[in-house]
Amino acid sequence: MTFLFICYIISSVFYKFYVDINPEIKAMIFNIPVSSNTYAVDMPTECPICKIGIQPNPLCAKIYETENKHITRLGVFLKCPVCHHAYVIEYSRDSERYSNFEIMNYCEPNHFKEKTFDDLPHELSSNFKRIYNQSFEAETQGLYEIAGMGYRKALEFLIKDFLILEYPDDAESIKQMTLSNCISNKINNENIKVVASRCAWIGNDETHYYRKHEELSINDLKEFLNVTLYWISACISTKKALSIEKK
Ligand SMILES: [Zn+2]
Repeated sequence: MTFLFICYIISSVFYKFYVDINPEIKAMIFNIPVSSNTYAVDMPTECPICKIGIQPNPLCAKIYETENKHITRLGVFLKCPVCHHAYVIEYSRDSERYSNFEIMNYCEPNHFKEKTFDDLPHELSSNFKRIYNQSFEAETQGLYEIAGMGYRKALEFLIKDFLILEYPDDAESIKQMTLSNCISNKINNENIKVVASRCAWIGNDETHYYRKHEELSINDLKEFLNVTLYWISACISTKKALSIEKK
């Protein structure tokens, strides 16, 4: 935190800047007089410290050169309106000197906060929760290669535990089936089948040497994993409702 405070003092003394927030495009627009340019950068949607969704308050920003003077970076100092802690985001851009800063290099400090999965039926997978949270912690620490593989493993435990709940007599064979076989041949719900299969495709890319879907990332994998979870929860709740007789 001392480092952050020193950054703020130095930047606020030497660089006055104007910031506008455009929530529609989820971007912060920086007008930095020192370079007479305006920059739009991705805005974080949740605080990296308290993990609550926020519209952060920008305190200051500065553009600086790297060892290669043709490459510059943008550092932004922000404050969370909820926990009132400050954090730093560094952006970079490709070799085009006057292009926008599209790449977020890091956001620090980034604290890990375990997901509790309150909507997940208690019958389902403590294994899934543990594997998901270990993957999430790896991702928080910037270990994306390991996190991607972990989310793929979390999907497999989620699907297999759900199927074992549905077909307890087939538990032993389900445990030994491939994930792809489970999704194609044992899942009856079309919504689960669609999102889980796409999630598995991306997950396999995170695990194997050759990447088949280069345009998809770990964020897409997490999105489809969360939607798979949503449909599985809905399926279990619907089955529970159907078991209730009218009196
Ligand atoms: Zn916060």
